[in-house]
Amino acid sequence: MKAKLLQGKPVAEAIKAEVAAEVAELVEKHGIRPGLAVVRVGEDPASAVYVASKVRSSEEVGLVSRHHHLPAETPHDELLALVNSLNADDDIDGILVQLPLPKHIDETAILDAIDPAKDVDGFHPTNVGRLSQGRDALVPCTPAGVIEILKRAGIEIAGKEAVVLGRSNIVGKPMAALLLKENATVTICHSRTKNLAEVTSRAEILVAAIGSAGFVCGEHVREGAVVIDVGINQVTERERVPQIFADEDVEKRLAAIEKRGFTLCGDAGPREILEKAAYYTPVPGGVGLLTVAMLMKNTVKAAKMRRKL
Ligand code: NAP
Repeated sequence: MKAKLLQGKPVAEAIKAEVAAEVAELVEKHGIRPGLAVVRVGEDPASAVYVASKVRSSEEVGLVSRHHHLPAETPHDELLALVNSLNADDDIDGILVQLPLPKHIDETAILDAIDPAKDVDGFHPTNVGRLSQGRDALVPCTPAGVIEILKRAGIEIAGKEAVVLGRSNIVGKPMAALLLKENATVTICHSRTKNLAEVTSRAEILVAAIGSAGFVCGEHVREGAVVIDVGINQVTERERVPQIFADEDVEKRLAAIEKRGFTLCGDAGPREILEKAAYYTPVPGGVGLLTVAMLMKNTVKAAKMRRKL
């Protein structure tokens, strides 16, 4: 079998176009332009890139976009005060505090302080609880994006054997809850799972979210499975490239290492996966592109839910 690639770009573009149309309708019919506030603390370079992309996308779809960039030494209480002021600000429908936060700040306390109705990252215990009960909720963007990719590719989820590799609060657990909500039969694996390959190779839908470059290989995958690769890792060693990537991709990957010092790699190794799976989301170019689009969608959802529209 040669897997069909599930590209994230057309799905992300379609979602953003739908969100832009919804924003235009909210403005026209109700005089409401939903607003997203993104809060960044300190100078983490990856966070700077993610936040810039969130701000740019907000502007593209017509949201009110606010960017609060605070110095790394900002005291916990000052950040808390900002979150509370955004909670009270009627022009703001979505609040996103970019993680990681500097060590002296209590991350959990900050995330818990966000009004659940404005919690567009879906990390607040109220939204986690609602999702776990199968109720309508603001849901973490990356796993929500995975469901969109599956649905828009016409892949049936109900009744399927789904395995989620990874149990983080950001990806693995909400992913499992969403697949369950879609009526899949769900198993969650983690670092203590015994006979891992035996469990994952039962999956008709396998979602890998562990943060280990090229970990998932042929032995983990059932023939004809849908493999969703959430991992974003860097491969720096040239000798790993032909072990992980398909022959036709090797030259490009080596050139990337030469130029930037690394090539991006998912948690699955395409060399073996492409031969066994029916569908595969490439890295880069797959799930990663969906996260920001889903954040835009969540902001409009929050704006409507808050006003009971
Ligand atoms: P995380 O918080 O580090 O969690 C990793 C999970 O994988 C843990 O549950 C861990 O098990 C499990 N795990 C690690 N090594 C394993 C192994 N060898 N066998 C079985 N399970 C193993 O990671 P995360 O935040 O969920 O992120 C996972 C990956 O997704 C990363 O590559 C990250 O960069 C990527 N990601 C992408 C996006 C996006 O596309 N926008 C968003 C978020 C994350 P234990 O619980 O037992 O330790």
